[in-house]
Amino acid sequence: MDSTLLSNLHFVFIPFLAPGHILPMVDIAKLLAKRNVKVTIITTPLNSIQFKSSIEREIESGSPIELHIVEFPNAEAGIPEGSESLETMPSMDLKTNFFKALDILQKPIEELLEKLSPSPCCIVSDKNIPCVADISIKFKLPRILFDGTNCFNLLCNHNLHTSKVYETVSDPDSLIVVPGLPHRIEMRKSQLPVIFTPGPDKELNAIRERIRTSEATSYGILVNTFEDLEGEYVKEYQRVTGHKVWCVGPVSLTNKDDLDKAQRGNKSTTTDESQYVNFLDSWPPCSVVYVCLGSLNRVTPEQLKEIGFGLEATKRPFIWVLRGAYRRDELENWLIEDGFEERLKGRGILIRGWAPQVLILSHKAIGAFLTHCGWNSTLEGICAGVPLITFPMFADQFYNEKVAVQVLETGVRVGVENSIHFGDEDKFGDGVLVNRDNVKEAIEKVMGEGEVKDKRRERARKYVELAKNAIEEGGSSYHNMSMLIEEIMHVKGLNQN
Ligand code: UDP
Repeated sequence: MDSTLLSNLHFVFIPFLAPGHILPMVDIAKLLAKRNVKVTIITTPLNSIQFKSSIEREIESGSPIELHIVEFPNAEAGIPEGSESLETMPSMDLKTNFFKALDILQKPIEELLEKLSPSPCCIVSDKNIPCVADISIKFKLPRILFDGTNCFNLLCNHNLHTSKVYETVSDPDSLIVVPGLPHRIEMRKSQLPVIFTPGPDKELNAIRERIRTSEATSYGILVNTFEDLEGEYVKEYQRVTGHKVWCVGPVSLTNKDDLDKAQRGNKSTTTDESQYVNFLDSWPPCSVVYVCLGSLNRVTPEQLKEIGFGLEATKRPFIWVLRGAYRRDELENWLIEDGFEERLKGRGILIRGWAPQVLILSHKAIGAFLTHCGWNSTLEGICAGVPLITFPMFADQFYNEKVAVQVLETGVRVGVENSIHFGDEDKFGDGVLVNRDNVKEAIEKVMGEGEVKDKRRERARKYVELAKNAIEEGGSSYHNMSMLIEEIMHVKGLNQN
């Protein structure tokens, strides 16, 4: 493509303020800038820390990427200083304040857009920031939504909304068959995303509905997936909605060198990642279980103990990431007083901060990934060719479990039946969804020898090459990124034809 024309293009990226949304959008921004298109990422000071150094490295290597900061309106939104992300909210009662803060950001973002040069051609924004719909109208810019999930998920939501089948049952345990899918997918009503089972908080429900309706006025959707993974779902979603969809993933694969993999998302500069690599180097291929329940998790100490006892009972080596501040002191007391940490020294590593997940998953010693099924983690496990042990809790996680277990057949369920929506943990007693035996059994179904296990591993391994090829030149995701660039050139009247 003509480089003068490309240098006239300027994409602005506005990620939602949570790691699971920021990290893939930063990856996409880097991929786009590699195509000589100018990209500006807008975020707040504390959120920038998790990816700033990787952007600086991109700039040093000549990439036309920039980072611009807008202040987070803590005081105005009633959120304590030091918290600028859903991950660090001190209380889930502040959820509506958080969305208020995003609305307040509209003005500073608009002021920034006025100053950017060359003038932006397009805004790529997370679907959870509805004020960007107003910004794009004001600046007459096409707004491309970034949807942090996959096309399976998009199609399920679309078909549920249009069929209203979820309204035909009231019992949360009733099974619903999601209509119009290539596979027969059954979900309990309670496992559906919260938009289908709204709680009593009217303000929050209104925000969710505003997010949903703002999707309809977007120019198109960028999805972190690839056609060889869920081609049927991509096609069917495009067919039933008529939306423009660009599948450009798996975007985490843009982090090719170990430093990018190790630092991805880490706010601390003092983490010594080599300790994890050394641990993994000391175990045979496919022998270590990696356990991480995402960046936002608020799993109860009672449930975490069951996971711990389950891991212990397998007698297998593991890396277990313990994130989240929810009743954390109680868990720490247990880890120490019960002697768990001491007992399992040498066999298991506990990571109490941020884990270099992409780096860990890429190590040949990893034999399975026990995941909460956030889409980024699910896809990162798939790209690493690792069977998944699925432990969904809320949002799109039960859909992603279906992708792993039923569509790809590379996952095994731990057996979670009930959803505990994010922030509602206090309402569900001790929050124990599965016990230590369930955890042990699921791990044993995946690890070790046996025909069924070997076949599952073979199926999982197949995706390593397919994923890599998708984002390389000639691959479907590479091609889709070219199509996106051409489309925006066309819209802005910059194309050569
Ligand atoms: N992640 C990480 N280290 C951690 C926790 C999370 O690198 O200790 C990354 C993970 O690789 C993924 C993202 O954070 O890219 C989490 O996104 P996901 O959609 O899996 O779940 P969420 O955290 O949004 O629930």
